[in-house]
Amino acid sequence: GGLFSHVEQGPPDPILGIAEAYKKSTNPKKLNLGVGAYRTEEGKPLVLEAVRRAEQAVVSNPDHEYLPITGIPEFNALSARLAFGEDSSVIRENCNATVQALSGTGSLRVGAEFLARHYPVRTVLLPSPTWPSHNKIFPLAGVADVRAYRYFKPSSRGLDYEGMLEDLRKAPEGSILLLHACAHNPTGVDPSLDQWRGILEVAKEKKFLPFFDSAYQGFASGDLERDATAIRMFADEGMEMLLAQSYAKNMGLYGERVGALTVVARDAAIAERVESQLKLVIRPMFSNPPRFGAAIVVKVLQDPELYALWRKELKGMADRINGMRTLLFQELQRAGAPGKWSHIVEQIGMFSFTGLSKPQVEYLTAKWHVYMTLDGRISMAGLNQASCRYLAEGIADAIR
Ligand code: PMP
Repeated sequence: GGLFSHVEQGPPDPILGIAEAYKKSTNPKKLNLGVGAYRTEEGKPLVLEAVRRAEQAVVSNPDHEYLPITGIPEFNALSARLAFGEDSSVIRENCNATVQALSGTGSLRVGAEFLARHYPVRTVLLPSPTWPSHNKIFPLAGVADVRAYRYFKPSSRGLDYEGMLEDLRKAPEGSILLLHACAHNPTGVDPSLDQWRGILEVAKEKKFLPFFDSAYQGFASGDLERDATAIRMFADEGMEMLLAQSYAKNMGLYGERVGALTVVARDAAIAERVESQLKLVIRPMFSNPPRFGAAIVVKVLQDPELYALWRKELKGMADRINGMRTLLFQELQRAGAPGKWSHIVEQIGMFSFTGLSKPQVEYLTAKWHVYMTLDGRISMAGLNQASCRYLAEGIADAIR
């Protein structure tokens, strides 16, 4: 009996399920490539030195008062500048309403709730595949018509650019167009500069409202500017848009839930009214955001020395990941793995979409104790010099 006896067991989270299975394995060679977090060559989580120093400064000056509903004002201003650039017209003309929210996920959710209340079109276009939470966040917020556009092309393991444009042209005018700003998750496939220009043209033609999900700025290429190219290209064209930023990956602040939502409006007066409405979304949802992580981010972005150190460390993380791409590619060739593997080095960011089939992944897990998602995605940060060779041998075996 009991009031909740009818409640059925929910399905396990696919990614957290992998972590559990990995933990249970007693094989010393086991390899966890499911994690969506940076790991050092030694397989350890990394607290950036810039973050460590900023954190000490925050701790030595304790403040546990409530923040305003929209968070730390400097945090919002600095976050918008980081994304759009110092000399962006969005920033100069105060066309942005930027609010602090709970990392990337919470920022997406606040943005979706705002759109459900104040944007007339209920259609959101998501890349296929995309980060699974996108499929849940929008309908739960009230943006119910979720449609997929072609993005990944299995035959080339690259972008299905033609298919993407074709699908976008067929979509309803004014649709919300979700775009990964860089380092597309799960595929690691980003449009080229020319392709971004083509996407922008269609977005203008179709009067789409772009919604950029920026979870990896600086973490993808190691260069904060470069990873913001698409956002800035769209902003420079005077596009109104939304932007969800996360500091989970690029500052390693995963558990602190630091992020920002920006709505870019036509002018400053509209942006001010939009901000007043974002407050009405946030107040009954979580009232006001947490201080600690955002205070750390403010210190890192404000202090020239810490900022320079952060940029260096950010590049260090990106370089290690890209180094693993090169090494895995070489080891796959050395192991004689059948097929073409250049996509491993061409893809970017935390993940690589290997192209392995579900049975091949299951074989790798059963025989080689390699834990990864069934779609063939591997977390590049989960690899090191030694495990690249082991993985390549496993992949070669799984394919043969
Ligand atoms: N968007 C994408 C594409 C992501 O990969 C992630 C992190 N996995 C997020 C958003 C948000 O993560 P968080 O809420 O931890 O910032």
